[in-house]
Amino acid sequence: MAASRRAFLLGAAAVPTAARLGRGTLSRPGPADPPPGFDPWVEVDPAALAANVRVVARYAGGRPILAVAKNNAYGLGLAEAGPVLDRAPEVSGLAVVRAGEARALRDAGVRKPILLMARCTVDEAVELVRREVRLSLFGDDAPGFCAEVGRRARRQVRAHLYLDTGMGRMGRRVDRADDWVDEVARAGVVLEGAFTELTEDPDFDREQVERLRAFASRAAARGVRVGPLHAASSAAVAHQPETHLDLVRPGFALYGGLVSREMAERAELRPAFRLRARVARVERLEAGDGVSYHRRWRAERPTWVATLPIGYVDGYPAEAVKGCEALIGGRLCPVVGTVTASHTVVVLGDEPTARVGDVATLMGPDHPAIHPDTVARRSGTSEYGAYFRLSPLLPRLTLAG
Ligand SMILES: *Cc1c(COP(=O)(O)O)cnc(C)c1O
Repeated sequence: MAASRRAFLLGAAAVPTAARLGRGTLSRPGPADPPPGFDPWVEVDPAALAANVRVVARYAGGRPILAVAKNNAYGLGLAEAGPVLDRAPEVSGLAVVRAGEARALRDAGVRKPILLMARCTVDEAVELVRREVRLSLFGDDAPGFCAEVGRRARRQVRAHLYLDTGMGRMGRRVDRADDWVDEVARAGVVLEGAFTELTEDPDFDREQVERLRAFASRAAARGVRVGPLHAASSAAVAHQPETHLDLVRPGFALYGGLVSREMAERAELRPAFRLRARVARVERLEAGDGVSYHRRWRAERPTWVATLPIGYVDGYPAEAVKGCEALIGGRLCPVVGTVTASHTVVVLGDEPTARVGDVATLMGPDHPAIHPDTVARRSGTSEYGAYFRLSPLLPRLTLAG
């Protein structure tokens, strides 16, 4: 089971069919006001994001959600997605893995607690603590570090304990944390939680949760309260209720990532973005004419093609030419030739079915063929990658919530 889920994440699943995703046609109208220019853009859909949050909250049995917004909010944009998550009543706080992301969320007006799940310098911590960012503690230096930060920030340091229960990547080894947490507590840190990362191996996940729980109860027996416990990322929220603890910590599912085959089949989550561009050229090729470098694709008969001014620098996979399609005016148009840095050519067919200026969608929820999971699978990447690689340089257009 775990192996098949992981394989799914890596793009080994079958193409979602219209029936499985429940949407054979356009599920929503496009934006009322798409940008006037020919620069491609990422459209962010706050209603889809909020709906995904509600789905995840249901899976979590109503536990609060600590919404992970790392890597530019999974590609959507911190300034666009952050405030939507902040407003969602099911979300108790946001979590990131870079100090700059915490600052960007505050700059975007996010008011709920933000957890930085990473190391930072004393100088960074002073600024972050003043901006109500919670630190993650795991180093030997944590007690002294927090004392100094508290003094310089003139604030109590609020923090979560980051524990390594077997992932072997980040956090403090839970079997070497008892004396340490007592020292952290003596340094005057306000402990607001303790968390770990699961290896996504169901039997071992249970063991990891047990190690975290045992750590917390040993601390409690010594008079140290570590606060709410959390471990579950999207996959565990969906499939392992025994890991849900006091709050859950998903990212990908909130943005519409499918996380598992079972979730794909239930079609409850919707990608909360579209990758879009306008048709920049419409041309009729004669039989034998080629497209792109080395004329990698040739027309067998007179064929209309459209050029979209969007390419792999924007986050559309270079390998999308292996079977991906763009949706233009409700019609699917296959990608041909080569996805180059800034251009993609699609086939319209025997007729010029699109015009210069028409909006093309390369990824989004509107049709199973352009679902990010399909694009990822057909282009041999993971669905996480399809989101994470959306260029932060593309303009964002936020639909009305
Ligand atoms: C990315 C991340 C998450 C969320 O994982 P998803 O699979 O996106 O739900 C949770 N915790 C930590 C520490 C992470 O780095």
